[in-house]
Amino acid sequence: MGFTVKIKPANRTWGVEYAIRDIVETSKEALKKGKDLIYLNIGDPVKYGFSTPRNLIEAAYKAMLKNQNSYSDSVGIPEALSAIEKYAEKKGIKPIDIFITQGASEAIEFAIASLVDPGENIILPCPCYPLYQAITSKLGIEPRFYYLDEENNWEPDLNSLEDSIDEKTRAIVIINPNNPTGAIYSKKILLELLEIARKYNLIILSDEIYDQFILDVGVEHISIASLAEDVPVVTFNGLSKCYFAPGWRVGWGIVSGPKEILEDYIEAIHKLARSRLCAPHPLQYAIPEALNNENGYIKKILPELKKRRDLIVDGLNNLSGIRCVRPQGAFYAFPRLELPEISDLDFTKQLIMEEGVVVVHGSGFGQKPGTKHFRIIFLPEEKVLKEALVRIERFIKRICPA
Ligand code: PLP
Repeated sequence: MGFTVKIKPANRTWGVEYAIRDIVETSKEALKKGKDLIYLNIGDPVKYGFSTPRNLIEAAYKAMLKNQNSYSDSVGIPEALSAIEKYAEKKGIKPIDIFITQGASEAIEFAIASLVDPGENIILPCPCYPLYQAITSKLGIEPRFYYLDEENNWEPDLNSLEDSIDEKTRAIVIINPNNPTGAIYSKKILLELLEIARKYNLIILSDEIYDQFILDVGVEHISIASLAEDVPVVTFNGLSKCYFAPGWRVGWGIVSGPKEILEDYIEAIHKLARSRLCAPHPLQYAIPEALNNENGYIKKILPELKKRRDLIVDGLNNLSGIRCVRPQGAFYAFPRLELPEISDLDFTKQLIMEEGVVVVHGSGFGQKPGTKHFRIIFLPEEKVLKEALVRIERFIKRICPA
């Protein structure tokens, strides 16, 4: 006979959306129609020709040859934990616990899952990297939002942040450097954020996965945890972006703040870590290799990346109907559409279908009501970006003739 009734997925998966998915479908359709696509939608530097530094690969390979292929300790190998501790201290953080995970994504999920119950909420940025909404959906907790202020270099709008806090709020999430805006937060805003955390007794979850992608001289990335020993903070990072190894799935969380109040929370995180055994063991040997040495590779590519950023931002700002804040970090820009009568999703879909330029619609990340954006990546070579600009200009002239 066989099964006849469709298998019903669990309700907890209903709200799990990934902005990029719609776009992938549209891209497939455009490919079928023979469009030659320029992908400016993927946050993976390795897909754009950057490569994992050889010394990291050798460290992982050596570990495999030495048969370090067993499970490791659930929170990570001691050599890697101590390298992360030193790196954190260099950034001014005083870690009281470190846990190594399957990408920063898993560290973020552990930090939220061990803290927040259904019926409680966390405060997320809007726009936001979609992983956070996927986690809140899955865990049945409420996401609340504060706006990032485009008029102020995309820094957090602290009034909207404070407005969204209530008695059920457990944590504030910041992403710095930011995806999708590329903003790097000033010391002033970080200090003000800490004041809000103190006022409402909230933990700060700080996603710093792009911390070495700093494009402008004189701009410094500040870890919020380095500014306050009295505020509980979990800082996330990993090998995916700054060490060009996203497919290795190696990341970590660093807990800092007053030890006495954090003990139970840390134990809860460790319980979740134990339940999934460990992060990839041999690949953890690349962590000391990465963090105990200078990151020469990123230093070498940053000037080129800055040129690409300027090319895309200046090019977009020369077009009528688009306004783009210059990002200072990461490899994303989040330009604003000032074209009437077309939604950001339709703009993106038509741009893909008609010109083959693949970007992600702003509503996939959330955006302030009344505003429309798209996210564009500036990792590809200049000639690819120039061609993308020509196509975007042609598209805008077509849909909005002057
Ligand atoms: N956090 C942010 C802000 C990201 O943009 C990404 C990936 O794009 C991640 C976390 C995921 O990091 P990982 O690959 O270490 O899980």
